[in-house]
Amino acid sequence: MKFEPVIGLECHVQLATKTKAFTRASAAFGGAPNTHTDPYTLALPGTLPVLSRATIDFAIKMGLATGCSIRPLSRFARKHYFYPDLPKGFQISQYDEPLCEGGKVEFVLDGTVRSVRLTRIHVEEDAGKNTHVPGAPYSLVDLNRAGVPLIEVVSEPDVRSAAEASAYLRAIRQLVRYLGISDGNMEEGSLRCDANVSIRPVGDEQLGQRTELKNINSFKNVEAAIEVEIARQTEVLERGEKVRQETRLFNPDKGTTHAMRSKEQAHDYRYFPEPDLPPLRVGADWIEKVRASLPELPIQRRARFLEALALSPYDASVLTAEKEVADYFEAVLASGVETKTAANWVSSELLGRLHRDGKSIAASPVAAAAMAELLGLLGDRTISGKIAKDVFEKMWTSGRGAKEIVQAEGLTQVTDPIALEAACRAAVDANPKNAEGYRGGNAKLFGFFVGQVMKATGGKANPALVNEILKRLLLHDGKPQQP
Ligand code: ADP
Ligand code: MG
Repeated sequence: MKFEPVIGLECHVQLATKTKAFTRASAAFGGAPNTHTDPYTLALPGTLPVLSRATIDFAIKMGLATGCSIRPLSRFARKHYFYPDLPKGFQISQYDEPLCEGGKVEFVLDGTVRSVRLTRIHVEEDAGKNTHVPGAPYSLVDLNRAGVPLIEVVSEPDVRSAAEASAYLRAIRQLVRYLGISDGNMEEGSLRCDANVSIRPVGDEQLGQRTELKNINSFKNVEAAIEVEIARQTEVLERGEKVRQETRLFNPDKGTTHAMRSKEQAHDYRYFPEPDLPPLRVGADWIEKVRASLPELPIQRRARFLEALALSPYDASVLTAEKEVADYFEAVLASGVETKTAANWVSSELLGRLHRDGKSIAASPVAAAAMAELLGLLGDRTISGKIAKDVFEKMWTSGRGAKEIVQAEGLTQVTDPIALEAACRAAVDANPKNAEGYRGGNAKLFGFFVGQVMKATGGKANPALVNEILKRLLLHDGKPQQP
């Protein structure tokens, strides 16, 4: 029997607000343990939560960007469990009246636009962090993260493969970074994901029994964990057994999943409305104010780059992967640089160089205006492509401008036909054997002559002109003179 995988994802996104969701303590990542705390974070008796507006602004942003409907009235609820990193003994979350409902996430997979429906996006607070010291008779608790705002993005079971799950997650990461509501860093835990996986006979309407995979902390592991879980469930069903509903942990070293606990049910959490917070009312004016702050979304920007700028699908994806890259590219274009040239230089030279230095585009030593100046010199043929790359490297390391470097170092391209003809003739005259070989049919020798001229002119000769002149000299009037 053939089985089809069905996957639904629950993503926690840590919001990059300055303060915690329900108190003024800092929400910054890191810091010496237990320094981002206050009486509320420590759950001292008598402290009360006060909802931060930025938390809701950020959550509404994500809701609008994914086409959710925003509830005019939503409610917070207490979700109870007992663990040392949760001093109150409950987490403030949302239950049956979440802030955002419906909507979808769109992304490109293998060149086609895919869409995964969302069930909901709700707001909650994070827990602290336990560190289990090997061999010690105690564990350490750091409450810096306790109370930091999260949104949980819950998808419908629309995903059909591990590759699609990973593409969906990347789209969430890209989106929250475009919106500026989170850094989406999986390794640091700002983006955490649980994958619900089931399989069913192809053609069946009914969903199979699912397991929930936890502890997946990289895009690579998301794919690996789902792949092995699909294979495991297939084996279970093929043996004639049933998949048990349970929570399983992925072990990245072994590449296996193992049962952690039977899945908790909602009633295990004893949800009830948070009595210390009034219902959250979000009026149309609040929603419109947030809507006005939305940037052009990555999927829209990619479509515009394809249609209006006629970029290739590959270039359009690379140049819209990060908002800052797309902004940089468009700033270069706005200075009058030709589209294909700007696309090539930003996607290969600039991104390649940034990657080599481990720098983000915000920290690029060559800003968009400086890049435009360089590409202007290339466009009006003041410098050749080869020289442009050298100048770019000099700009990168010295911070100087393109014109300044070209002038100071005399790198202007040689386009004077008389000077070029002289250089070409010299190359031909100095190498009669190769000239004869070329005329005799060895076409590869042409490159040799181009190289000689480039060497003689310090790489500054205009390549198109050199080609033209060399062809003429070698094939037409360069024939041996009759004695
Ligand atoms: P819980 O919060 O207990 O995990 P939910 O009903 O909120 O349960 O579902 C969580 C996620 O599981 C959602 O993303 C949903 O799409 C997904 N899901 C539910 N049933 C299945 C199934 N049979 N197979 C795969 N995913 C499923
Ligand atoms: Mg779940």
